[in-house]
Amino acid sequence: MKNTITDLLKHLTEAREVVIFSGAGLSADSGIPTFRDGATGLWANIDPEEVASIEGFENNPDKVWAWHEAMRALFAEVQPNAGHEGIASLESLLPNARVTIITQNIDGLHQASGSTRVFEIHGSALRVRCHHHCGFIELWQAGQLAPRQCPSCGARARPDVVWFGEALDEEVFAHAAEAAIDADIFITVGTSAIIQPAASLPMAAKEYGAMIVEVNPHATPFSEHADYSIRSGASEFFPALCAVLLNGIGKLDR
Ligand code: NAD
Repeated sequence: MKNTITDLLKHLTEAREVVIFSGAGLSADSGIPTFRDGATGLWANIDPEEVASIEGFENNPDKVWAWHEAMRALFAEVQPNAGHEGIASLESLLPNARVTIITQNIDGLHQASGSTRVFEIHGSALRVRCHHHCGFIELWQAGQLAPRQCPSCGARARPDVVWFGEALDEEVFAHAAEAAIDADIFITVGTSAIIQPAASLPMAAKEYGAMIVEVNPHATPFSEHADYSIRSGASEFFPALCAVLLNGIGKLDR
């Protein structure tokens, strides 16, 4: 990893726009199972179409709410890991750059670790909103029952997450796309980058000239498009990168 970080160092310190594109693998070390890796916990014996799709919500809203309540409870128990913390530290370690996080995660851990510019393109399980988009949206406090009805218009309320088959929030996605296009360095972490339209963002960044770095312990279909494909867990890689930015490459022992 030392050689790769040495190479990255020069590019990072010269970059003006740095984008981190995160997926479920980033939160794995916090104890949140990823969709694909985890036949345990939240995803055990679960058909995602039943608990995380609009059809599932129409057919059995109680089941959808129960599953999201379990997820909300899990998210209340976990903490950001060293990967999230390292990413948050980049804001101060790269004073000449703007650091933008584009996340597919819905767990709020980027903000909990201190990152300030975060676009949650798949929404957040820490919020509820009006199903009919009347404008009602509020934080879903841990331990509290979320409203089943929108207090503003009486339509159904729902978790503020993007379910399978739903469109992404246009404004949030437009900001994310703009950041991808402007990126000098675009780092994907903990994602197989196959879920569309999210997966179009690293490709757009590449097309517009960004250097692309992938951080993932396993190869993905996206690996061949990356300039650097780093086979490492996020909670090892980002602290190592931050240590080098802080202390210089000589302090990195491998
Ligand atoms: P994914 O397709 O992004 O796959 C997870 C990836 O993370 C895999 O490529 C895996 O090799 C990699 N990975 C595993 N451990 C890692 C680590 N320690 N460091 C770096 N990478 C690691 O994600 P998915 O699980 O298939 O999820 C699909 C959708 O569901 C996405 O929208 C995702 O964000 C969402 N989801 C979110 C959460 C969350 O908010 N924490 C959890 C599960 C799923």
